[in-house]
Amino acid sequence: MSRAARLDFCWSSKTDVPDARSQPRHFPRFNDCQHNMQITEIPMKGYERVAKAHDPETGLRAIVAIHDRTLGPALGGMRMWNYSTDDEALTDVLRLARGMTYKSAVARTGLGGGKSVVIGDARSQKSPALFHAMGNFIDSFQGAYITAEDVGTSVADLKLVRESTKWVTGLSRDDGGSGNPSPYTALGCFVGLRAVLERVFGNASPAGRTIAIQGVGAVGSSFAEMLVKAGANVIVGDLYQERAESLARKIGARVSSMNRILFEDCDVLSPCALGGIMNDSTIPQLRCRAVAGCANNQLLEPVHGDLLHSKGILYAPDYVINAGGIINVGCELLKGGYDEASALKRIDSIYDAMKQVFHISETEKIPTYKAADLLAEKILKNGTASKH
Ligand code: NAD
Repeated sequence: MSRAARLDFCWSSKTDVPDARSQPRHFPRFNDCQHNMQITEIPMKGYERVAKAHDPETGLRAIVAIHDRTLGPALGGMRMWNYSTDDEALTDVLRLARGMTYKSAVARTGLGGGKSVVIGDARSQKSPALFHAMGNFIDSFQGAYITAEDVGTSVADLKLVRESTKWVTGLSRDDGGSGNPSPYTALGCFVGLRAVLERVFGNASPAGRTIAIQGVGAVGSSFAEMLVKAGANVIVGDLYQERAESLARKIGARVSSMNRILFEDCDVLSPCALGGIMNDSTIPQLRCRAVAGCANNQLLEPVHGDLLHSKGILYAPDYVINAGGIINVGCELLKGGYDEASALKRIDSIYDAMKQVFHISETEKIPTYKAADLLAEKILKNGTASKH
């Protein structure tokens, strides 16, 4: 099937995401849309489209990666990070976009997977012009990619992006959106953690359990607060020590250091910062029974999922347990618009998704990360089949 024909059938597919049907049948030629911005295609096997933008006027350097739209338009957050090279940014966005395809499949959002990264320091390089330019870049995808918040970007940044494109979710309620997805991601992680605790300790309650959280930004802080309220002993650590200390004071948690947090003696280690932290050097030093957190791409390589499995540490596949945010923003696109009660009900289903993954892992005798991939690939395959 030709590429154009394949896209055609993607967009005419049955889905409960109404805007999917108003997407373009062909990607626009970017230079027709953007006069000053240099947009370079990056052909990438296994991805529908990857493109890099450079706007000399605003200093924007960004990449959008669309991994797969079998199930619907590609929705995924916009990360702003001070990558040391463009290659590092590309590797990150590719991994994140693929993760979104799998995440949305298992969470049954009716969406595909994509992601964007803005290369720059989120603390010092933000400007309205930068986000307007990013909006123009996203707009040129005409709905094939829809954005939201991620590490380094806020509701206020997304509001600026929205001035250049309508393909934005996660705006504030006042602006017609579902709000920042982070508390919903944290909530989903809390729900998923209950399945983890039940599996490991035979009791789903976090009360009395010790949970070490690496990274207390938007999701980690919210997650920590929920856990303390549920009676857990929470230990927090962050790159910015003062952030960890101020949260610990506010909610009643213990502070660890950025270097020690991963290796604290705990029931569950909860990575809520950046990816790749389950690796050859960290895994041998872990002192936990399970790893369950909000961060994306926690395993540096798949083999690290095997390593955790062989050490008897239960790993909650990141894209299954951290789907609360995508479920919430995805509800903005449903017919009838966003409804919090129905979003919360959908987020609750993360518990069942986790149990399903554990069941597959047990019956197939495979590590949980492979079980989650099997589940996602089955859903994607069914999605493809239903279109024929
Ligand atoms: P954030 O930028 O608000 O918070 C990240 C925190 O991690 C910051 O406080 C940062 O200082 C800290 N950090 C970074 N490197 C660290 C290190 N080496 N050790 C300790 N702390 C470190 O980002 P966020 O929105 O909270 O997202 C956190 C993670 O969750 C990311 O991996 C993100 O992709 C993932 N995630 C977020 C959402 C969401 O709704 N925000 C949804 C799904 C997944």
